[in-house]
This record gives sequence, structure tokens and C-alpha cells, in this order.
Amino acid sequence: MNYTRKEFIALSAGGFFGMNMVTRPRRSIPVSRARSGGAIDVKVRELKLVNTWTIARNSSDVKYNVFVRYEKDGVIGIGEAAPNVRYDETPESTVETIESARDLLEKADPWQFVDLGYAIQEITEGQTAAKCAMDMAVMDWITRSLGVPFYTFLGLNRNKAARTSFSIGIDTPEVIQKKIRDAEPYSVLKIKLGRDDDEEIMRAVREVTDKTVRVDINEGWKDKQEALEKIEWLKTLNVEFVEQPMPSVMLEETRWLRERSPLPIVADEAVKKASDIPALAHAFDGINIKLMKSGGLQEALRMIWMARSLGLKIMLGCMIESSVAISAGAHISPLVDWADLDGNLLISNDPFSGATVRNSTLVLPERPGLGIQGTF
Ligand code: MG
Repeated sequence: MNYTRKEFIALSAGGFFGMNMVTRPRRSIPVSRARSGGAIDVKVRELKLVNTWTIARNSSDVKYNVFVRYEKDGVIGIGEAAPNVRYDETPESTVETIESARDLLEKADPWQFVDLGYAIQEITEGQTAAKCAMDMAVMDWITRSLGVPFYTFLGLNRNKAARTSFSIGIDTPEVIQKKIRDAEPYSVLKIKLGRDDDEEIMRAVREVTDKTVRVDINEGWKDKQEALEKIEWLKTLNVEFVEQPMPSVMLEETRWLRERSPLPIVADEAVKKASDIPALAHAFDGINIKLMKSGGLQEALRMIWMARSLGLKIMLGCMIESSVAISAGAHISPLVDWADLDGNLLISNDPFSGATVRNSTLVLPERPGLGIQGTF
């Protein structure tokens, strides 16, 4: 993604595609002719990473996330999209998807947010980050209008907010050790593996810390026998679980691996929405739910109930996100087993504030809505 600042300002203003390229949504709910919904505004912002972020797949220094502002009756709701190339998303495709839903959002009654949420999900195939931003803005607006925090709206206890891990991207052993020392306040670390330097990285990790470590392979291991040997070796290094060891398409190989693995195996790239879960239940011990994959808070909640009914463990993860999306995730964290909501801690210019972390545990803002503060 090499766009100049100017191009992104143009993109934010909706001028990047030309209005004739904007496709109108196939609406599945009736909407009145008059506007009963809110006005939306879309903005692309550059988020600078504290350190170059490298995982098995790719490497980046900045991220361009897309923000949605939904306003109606003097109340504002904010949502965020973190487009991910793994899911064929770019800032451009995200803005285009949001623009294609403008008509829907400006006409639909937000109080019928369940129907509206389903209609947003049906706009287009994929592009879940864009859908997430819209759903999040509407749910923030709903709970700000009601004057209650989102966790209260869901009937959750803010004192049960999850403990979050802190992620360490792939780097040289020296830099990894520095990052681990900088992550002193966090009691659990998530280490990115999946290239040919796994042993070197884990040696560097265990030289400087005996904290609980989770590892994320990001689909990096392609051979099941080799994957099993690596997991048996990781078991000796006090690793808690292994996330997405093999490519999502290698489901049968993952099932084979899980039958033999001494550590739990958690799906990430293999699962996006609730209807994906039943087919995965025989191959994984848990799933990593991310708002950007699910298409928002409402689908993430459906995923939580589905996973629980199938006896799966639940992790709540994130992309590189500002405090907007991280706070949204934090509000539903009392429902999950493991949280990895550190995306906002990896950027140096977070435009917003919201949920924080104290003693490794997420602290939910008590303000109405998602409790986000900052200028859109
Ligand atoms: Mg992952």
C-alpha cells in the first residue's frame, strides 16, 4: 500500500472511485422513503506502527484504517475498519463498500439494529472490515443514545473483562528480546512464528522471560508431521496454545494434527463468521474471533454463542487497530477465555482513547456507548 497522504484525503472524501462506480446495495429489509437513519461520514487515517510489524505473511510500518461516523438526533457513533490483505481487503475496497451502504444506513431505522446488521452483512461478499465499521458505529450510537456502556447493554460484568496478551512480531533475536523487556507490564505474551527461524526466536524468548507464551503461526507450517514435531518441542517451552498452525484450507491435516497435539490448537484464519464454526469443531480446540473478520459486534456475539454450544474455547483477537475497535472488543471480553486485544498498543499515533490495560487486564470505560473519546 503506497498511497500519498493527498490520495488518501481524496479517498476519504469519496472522490477516489467516482460516484458512478459505487454500487447500490441489495437491500433485504424494507426502508421508508424518508430518511429515518443517520448521516454517515467516512475517513481514512494513517496509523504509524511503533515497530515494523512482521508476521509469517508480510511486513508493514504503517496501516491505513477506515473510520465511520454515524450521526442521528444529535448523537454520534464511531466505528473502525482495519482492512486486511489476507481477506482481499484494502482501504479503497473498504471505503467503496461503506459508500455502497450509505443509502441503506441513511434510510434504515437504527433501533431495528438486528435487521440492519443482517442487511449490512448482505451488502457484498467478504469486505468484513467495512461491515464491522458500520455495525460498530450503529451499536455505539444505540448505546450512547440509551446512555449506557455497551457491556451494560449486554448484561455483562466489567470486572470480568479478560486479561490480554501482548503480541511480539517476527524480528531479530535482539529486537525480540528488547520488545519482551518493553512488554514487562503484560503477564502473557503472544509470539509470532511460522517462518524458518522458529527455533532462533523461541530461544531468544526463553533467554529473557519465563512468562506464559502463546504462539501464532499464521498458517506458516505446511507439513503436518513437521508441525507435530514443532508443537511437541513448544510443549517443552511452556507454551499455552498454538494458533492457526497450518493453512486454513488444510483442514484435514489440522484435524490429524489436533488428534496428536499435546497443546490446544486455535483457529484464526480458518474462521470468520458463525456459520464457519460447526465444520471446524473437529479440527480445533478453540477459535479466535475478531470483529474485523466477523463483520462486527453482532456477528461476533453470534459466534460466541455458537462456539460455546460446540464446547470450543474462545479467544478474542484483533488486527492493528486504534482504541475504537479495541474498545469495542474489550466490551465483549467478559464472554471469552483468552483476549489478545493489543492492536492499539502497537501504534504510536492512536487518534482515540477508550479501553485501557491495568495489570495485564482490560479496563472497560464506564462512559455510554463504547466509551471512546477523541476527534473523528
Ligand atoms: Mg492469528
